[in-house]
Amino acid sequence: MITATQKSPTIQDDSWIASSCALCYGSCSILAHRVNGVVVKIEGNPKSAVGKGKLCGKGVSGIMTHYDPNRLTKPLRRTNPKKGINEDPGWKEISWDEALDEIVGVLAQVRQEDPRKLVIQRTTTVMASRMPFHAFAAAFGTPNISASGAGLHCGNAAHLISGIMHASWSVVPDFAYCNYAIYFGASKGHSAGHASCSNMGLAADARARGMKMIVVDPIANFAGGKATEWVPLRVGTDAMLALSMANVIVNELNSVDRPYLQARTNGPYLIGPGKRYMRDVKTKQPLVWDTAANAARPFSEVAAADMALEGEFIVNGVKCTTSFTKLKAHLTSFTPELAEKVCTVPAASIRRIAREFSSEASIGSTITIEGTTLPHRPVAAIAFRGNQGHMNSTYNFIAVNLLNHLVGAADVVGDAWALILHAKVFRKRGSYAMYQSLMTTAS
Ligand code: SF4
Repeated sequence: MITATQKSPTIQDDSWIASSCALCYGSCSILAHRVNGVVVKIEGNPKSAVGKGKLCGKGVSGIMTHYDPNRLTKPLRRTNPKKGINEDPGWKEISWDEALDEIVGVLAQVRQEDPRKLVIQRTTTVMASRMPFHAFAAAFGTPNISASGAGLHCGNAAHLISGIMHASWSVVPDFAYCNYAIYFGASKGHSAGHASCSNMGLAADARARGMKMIVVDPIANFAGGKATEWVPLRVGTDAMLALSMANVIVNELNSVDRPYLQARTNGPYLIGPGKRYMRDVKTKQPLVWDTAANAARPFSEVAAADMALEGEFIVNGVKCTTSFTKLKAHLTSFTPELAEKVCTVPAASIRRIAREFSSEASIGSTITIEGTTLPHRPVAAIAFRGNQGHMNSTYNFIAVNLLNHLVGAADVVGDAWALILHAKVFRKRGSYAMYQSLMTTAS
């Protein structure tokens, strides 16, 4: 018997090639075993943090896709312009040179007229395709590029809101440090969801370390099977549950991260009649109340600690109030008792989970990692498909994400983290601002 390392005279080439799996956006690191120019096996690459040497069944079977006799290896041109269910597209194989000449000809013409006329909608599914597309768009001169599932939106608002708030495709608990995670219709790290192989190992380690996992879901599959506590609720009522928890945290426990809300959200922005920001006449910036100067000033000119988070003020003869004050008042209508009727989750459970979440957030705490001291909020509220496979997708996701922002648990150690960073995590005036604007739009 000849092993891979004992080359027979007929084996000229026997190598392991490091690459990455392109069968989903997990992009797990792989090693392809090539013998005499033929890939004979695909394994995970244990030296890489992405997948840590593990692959899912689809990844292992990538070899079948690679050598599928029906795999497309040449460009096809549609010859029948008529489209319809019973129309044969009339695909005709053409050479790569022919295809490239044709495409480049059209692109050159568009670029000459106005590069912005090129709109690129790129796939989300393959990591290897993301950066080249962006580099191409930049080189071409068009800003019009977006990622989209092109109608296959399993994440719906998760992608929209995570993109705006976390510069990310989605959010997951920071498994290495999170101590308390609430999953609203999500299964990340439990044999489903993004970066499946990497996250499964991380989630398993987190559970072994003692991370509590509260799974809010009408059905207890995937994550529910591993949960510390399964909280069943009526389908599609996640926003009501999350807002009633927010109400408890804000109005009953008063357990919010004030410095975070001052520095990182629009909580201190002044809202005038008509539910719009009060703005500085010159700079058009939203105004905040500067407690040191006892006057309204553009937010960029005021130290965060001096911004009034709550209160009513008169600015230029107009009565206004802070955005956070409005949120507090708005949340009062979402009582746990009402949520119990809508969601079927007992009010006592809602209060307990909200209390546990805000208490485990350890507001104000820091942690030192490799000599750097960072904010530490070891809680995360995440959501995904189960939370938003229906018309209230955006409201459900944003209400869940609001929980993180109330306790300052967004893109710091232990909290709800950007799953896939597009470039850099921009610490924006976050989900809270988005919630406010959606609230205004809805009312
Ligand atoms: S999760 Fe599976 S299909 Fe996706 S990149 Fe990893 S091995 Fe490939």
